[in-house]
Amino acid sequence: MFVRQLNMPITSLKGVGKKVAESYASLGVSMCSDLLLLSPRTYEDRTAIVPLGGLRDGQYANTIVQVVAHSYFGGLHKRTLKVIVKDVSSEGDGKASLLCFGRNFLEKVLRVGSIFYLYGQFQRNFKELQSSQFEMLPLAHDGSMPGDFGKFLPVYPLAGLLTQRIVRRDVSALLEQYQAFENELPEYIIKEHFLMNTDKALRTLHFPDSKTELDEAIKTLAFTELFYLQLIGRRKSATARTDIPETDVSITTLEQKFIAALPFELTKDQLQVLQEIRKDMINPSPMNRLLQGDVGSGKTLVAWISSLRTIQHHGQVAFMAPTELLARQHAEKAAQLLEPLGIKIAFLTGSVNQTARKNLIKALANGEIDIIIGTHALFSEDVLFSALRYIIIDEQQRFGVVQRISLLEKGRSPDVLMMTATPIPRTLALTVFGDLDISTIKTMPIGRLPIITYLVSNQSRERMYSAIKVEFSRGHQAYFVYPRIDSAGDSGLRDVESMYQMLTKEIYPGIPAALIHSRLPEDEKVDILLRFRKGELAYLVSTSVVEVGIDIPNATCMVVEHAERFGLSALHQLRGRVGRSTLQSYCFLVYESNLTEEARQRLMVMKESTDGFYIAEQDLLIRGPGEVAGTRQSGFLKLHFANLLTDLPLIAQVKTVVDQVVAIDAELLKLEHETLRRVLLVAPPFEEKVMEG
Ligand code: ADP
Ligand code: MG
Repeated sequence: MFVRQLNMPITSLKGVGKKVAESYASLGVSMCSDLLLLSPRTYEDRTAIVPLGGLRDGQYANTIVQVVAHSYFGGLHKRTLKVIVKDVSSEGDGKASLLCFGRNFLEKVLRVGSIFYLYGQFQRNFKELQSSQFEMLPLAHDGSMPGDFGKFLPVYPLAGLLTQRIVRRDVSALLEQYQAFENELPEYIIKEHFLMNTDKALRTLHFPDSKTELDEAIKTLAFTELFYLQLIGRRKSATARTDIPETDVSITTLEQKFIAALPFELTKDQLQVLQEIRKDMINPSPMNRLLQGDVGSGKTLVAWISSLRTIQHHGQVAFMAPTELLARQHAEKAAQLLEPLGIKIAFLTGSVNQTARKNLIKALANGEIDIIIGTHALFSEDVLFSALRYIIIDEQQRFGVVQRISLLEKGRSPDVLMMTATPIPRTLALTVFGDLDISTIKTMPIGRLPIITYLVSNQSRERMYSAIKVEFSRGHQAYFVYPRIDSAGDSGLRDVESMYQMLTKEIYPGIPAALIHSRLPEDEKVDILLRFRKGELAYLVSTSVVEVGIDIPNATCMVVEHAERFGLSALHQLRGRVGRSTLQSYCFLVYESNLTEEARQRLMVMKESTDGFYIAEQDLLIRGPGEVAGTRQSGFLKLHFANLLTDLPLIAQVKTVVDQVVAIDAELLKLEHETLRRVLLVAPPFEEKVMEG
């Protein structure tokens, strides 16, 4: 069977009930195939004996030990068991203490004199080797190591009720239940490029025997992913349109009317991009264009104007945003800009109620709606269009390939415009997407003053508070951003809740403000932003939820605390929330005094430059590709197995292969989107954890 045929819900697995399924769902896993494609975050290497003797701080032991003594520490009422163990393997003669917090019952299990297999991470404290996170298993009857020894054990991303044990159990069950998955790549490609069979690659991904084998498996899966990704890119010519409504590239009357009514002039770059899009739209091959430009450079406006052409020719437009908040904001702006022209706009997210949703879906299928704006909800199977001709994707790096394709399937070769504020190197884009076109807006609208950025040490925050007070007195607004929601966990970091108390009580008493973070219900967030937009609130105290796309022109101050903890691109996005009008704006980056050299460099880049392209480059330079590699997220495209920064040689190799294959194997190009989507070894991406909470 093919992986895609594992389309039964994970609740069909033994032991997976409703609660566990919910936890899986927040990892984007709902079908058995999703679970099969859930990549481990990392692996526990239990292949070799690592004795206690000679263990360094932070290292893992993987060995056989004997219990030599028990003792207790802590107050009478909170006594904690400490089990002293020593190496018994011939390879070490170390001793260590196992701290059994809340597990004093282990006294009965870990009896003095008995011998166990031990795996765990150790710290050196006061010359003593200690661990509070360890695993002890009895040896087998014949004295040999228990089953986990000698393996690489997968370490999965977790959520809710999930534990490593549960996920490992479920993946094993799945792999046992279904023998021999079919190859996802043509046989001759596997042979020629020394790849693994898909079945082997999947089994190895979860339970590898060695590092070498694991690398081979990941290479195979990455190859497969890139192969189909590029194949989609090449399909453009295969799906040429014969029903272009008109071949006249000149500006439509709707566009003219709209542009004439704008209170400002479009920039040269905006006009240029509009012209490029017009040309794409009359081309028999559908548009596949990436529009990059810094935050606030006017990309979204370009998107709205370009959609007028589609609408004038009776096509429908889908506009997809990554979050409910952004979708709503776009919908409000679109209503204000486009409804006066008689354009019918609808809004669809997960929060739209059933009755409204039903009516909306009907109107959409009947062609009574020109533009639909929404989130992932737009992908739902029951959302059908009468004539979807144009798809606009905002902040496209937040969506996975599969999601993009499922929207494509709802139209007949629709034009696609993807927008991003995260610039990507052109060569990389071309290699990955094949024939993706790129437009760039480099100039900001005229009259924008560059944002002034101050680096503020923790001690000099008073001056910052006064400066912002002056802005309030001018009727301007501010954002205060902190890395945490509450003080739980005692990280020593400032958090939104306590700072909200301090700001409203001590610093700015009497000035209206609100608290906003991801744990608030969606409608509350929306309401707060609405009041902020109307000017009823002077400032928002927030986590990085304000990071993307929020557009409130009257906000002139952005304060980011613990700025040293944010990445450059996050800081740039946050700063982009101000400077969105002709008002002078300010960004205050507050840092702790003992900065690392790297953190200092990053803050200096922010102070020196407001150019997103420059900042992205510096980010790479400072962090180096190694650092970025760990994240799997390339910043502009979510892939599961391939890494766009470190897998450049593989990407180039796959490109050559695809070039050859489409020349000899035209059948491959004829695959339907639906098939391609399921062939693709890409599970839906789940929201990356933001630095919050
Ligand atoms: P982006 O999508 O690139 O972040 P937007 O299209 O949202 O940028 O534009 C940011 C703000 O600037 C919006 O309020 C928009 O109306 C305004 N704007 C766009 N283009 C211009 C322009 N040429 N002149 C003045 N203001 C503009
Ligand atoms: Mg935007």
